[in-house]
Amino acid sequence: MKRIVIKVGSSTVTHESGLLNLRKIEELAKIISDLSNKGMEIVLVSSGAVAAGMGRMQLQSTPSTLCDKQAVASIGQCELMYIYDKFFSQFGKVVAQMLMTKRVILDDTLRENATRTVETLLSYRTIPIINENDSVATEELVYGDNDTLGAITAQLIKAEMLIVLSDIDGLYDRNPSKHEDAKLIPIVEEVTSEIEAMAEDTSTKVGTGGMITKLAAAKIATEAGCDMVICNGKDLNVIYDVVDNKHVGTLFK
Ligand code: ADP
Repeated sequence: MKRIVIKVGSSTVTHESGLLNLRKIEELAKIISDLSNKGMEIVLVSSGAVAAGMGRMQLQSTPSTLCDKQAVASIGQCELMYIYDKFFSQFGKVVAQMLMTKRVILDDTLRENATRTVETLLSYRTIPIINENDSVATEELVYGDNDTLGAITAQLIKAEMLIVLSDIDGLYDRNPSKHEDAKLIPIVEEVTSEIEAMAEDTSTKVGTGGMITKLAAAKIATEAGCDMVICNGKDLNVIYDVVDNKHVGTLFK
């Protein structure tokens, strides 16, 4: 496996308090740097701008109005990249920030430019870190979840694998946070309507999207010839398992 996209949800990079989980971010930086040293090309799609902004501004709760949220995201995106830069630098890696909107993806020229930029960054052996541009996007202009952005990124750069790190082990036959007897589905060959019926919206405080957006992402990725794995980000060593083709979480082929 050479080229992969790793998407980390808010639940992986933040604590329940809403503030950034620095230990997790440092571990993530170490593992990605290590895989990069092995010769892999890795793009990180990371949420966490609002969480970082809340920490920086010492806010106790998520801002409620759109303009407050966008302002806090703007402060937080800076903070988030500062922290990534600090941790990746520790391991000798250079990071690059790319902020995307739906408009960039839908416009041929902008999309081609963005793709070329990511390709160039990878050729420099840097680690591109992508997020949605929360400070300018409005409802019609956002995907609203980085699952879709992760899948689109994987499609654009023809990645072999998209790893979606979540707060759950994978796709279950029903929402495991509501049904104790839910069973993990190890492999999905096709995202059928039967599979889609298993997914519900998120029930976590920090996550956006839930399983529904992850299945939509799986469709985009697999249709582009990229496998996708949903696995639990609580132990980030799971990334090594995926890269070594060990079976973890739910694999979409
Ligand atoms: P993240 O921020 O890590 O991406 P999300 O909260 O967006 O996490 O999505 C994961 C959540 O989706 C799970 O914690 C669970 O509550 C919910 N969910 C709904 N239906 C399912 C399902 N069929 N299988 C697994 N999780 C599900």
